[in-house]
Amino acid sequence: MLDIRFDNVTIIDGTGKPGFLGSVGVRDGRILEVGSFEGRAKETLDASGLCLMPGIVDNHTHYDAQVTWDPYCNPSPLLGVTTLVMGNCGFTIAPCHPSDRDITMRNLTQVEGMSIDALKEGIDWSFETFPQYLDMLEAKGVGPNVCCFVGHSSVRTYVLREDAATRAATPEEVKQMRAVVVEAMEAGACGFATTRYPGHNGEHGIPMPSRLADDAEMLTLSGALRDVGRGILMMTKSFDMPISTIEKLCAEANRPYIIAALLHSHLDPNKTFADLSEIKLAQSRGNRLYGAVSPCPLNMDFSFHSPYPLEGFSCWHPMMDLSVESYKEALADPAFRKAFMDELNSGEVKVFSGEWDKVYVAQVASTANISLEGKSIADLAEVSQKAPFDFMLDLALEENLDTMSVSYTHLTLPTNREV
Ligand SMILES: [Zn+2]
Repeated sequence: MLDIRFDNVTIIDGTGKPGFLGSVGVRDGRILEVGSFEGRAKETLDASGLCLMPGIVDNHTHYDAQVTWDPYCNPSPLLGVTTLVMGNCGFTIAPCHPSDRDITMRNLTQVEGMSIDALKEGIDWSFETFPQYLDMLEAKGVGPNVCCFVGHSSVRTYVLREDAATRAATPEEVKQMRAVVVEAMEAGACGFATTRYPGHNGEHGIPMPSRLADDAEMLTLSGALRDVGRGILMMTKSFDMPISTIEKLCAEANRPYIIAALLHSHLDPNKTFADLSEIKLAQSRGNRLYGAVSPCPLNMDFSFHSPYPLEGFSCWHPMMDLSVESYKEALADPAFRKAFMDELNSGEVKVFSGEWDKVYVAQVASTANISLEGKSIADLAEVSQKAPFDFMLDLALEENLDTMSVSYTHLTLPTNREV
């Protein structure tokens, strides 16, 4: 007899075929029957109007800090996620010397847009090493299934300390970092994650530490997984990094390699598909490369207190060190605005590449501006007969930088190409 059966439920079985109406039977915690079948159950539920589907595996999250105070990793389970992978891009909070906690939190604030107040109040720092971090999570308990990468930037900070974001590592330091990676893998990390992406900057726009790694460091740390004999590699690459560079690291480790984030850019619409073709060729050579694409736009909420989508611009870096008053003066300065637009128009692919029609006013600070909410910067600029960047900055300055905007960009577009 089944333990439980769900009847009249719309079944989405995860194979890609459309949902269909039927029943699902479960015994001993396992799905035994799907579709139309006979058989009684201890409990029968009429699930008319509801759907059943396999839990979603979210392979790219950054819950490393949040999971220490929120074991359910909200809101992911509410959205159908039952397994999530954290530590992506190499931004973990372990390992971490107690004296590096502050910079670790401030970097997360910058690179992932997390609230510094939430991090300071929330993170449980009862660990130093990566194995201690995993032990702590296990002791506290977690809601969904959780896989943790050991992160390159944390490993680098742990060994190079204050030099982590400023210089190449010595051979001795690389050796020490490798030992930290091996220790993490042996304790249960799911792999090693890194970033080479120029938009990944920490406090004051300083590159996240892994971006300082040279080829020898990349090869040695990736290669650590060969000796361990398990785990996967993960990199967020720069837009123009050739797939062949990552294929070498994959071959060195002889482990699967996930390449993120293959997002679409309107400036170079075929690039992602070219990368996916290269990945397929690498697979034909026996190297297990996999591209991570996005089925939805990359949406980012931001205000001009810290406009993440714009902080990858080199003209923005000096702005990040200014006092609030000087920063506001610079935002109003036509020379700065021109420098930004010149850089924007240079054609280089960045987090933001000038799609003003995909940036919306999400929430205004002044009720007088409430009619602007939900409208795109492109449309609002046209009505006000200003250039979009001028419109956006003028509104931000008028509202003491408190206007919240949201950008929706980089959807990996559906394609009829074979990839
Ligand atoms: Zn990431």
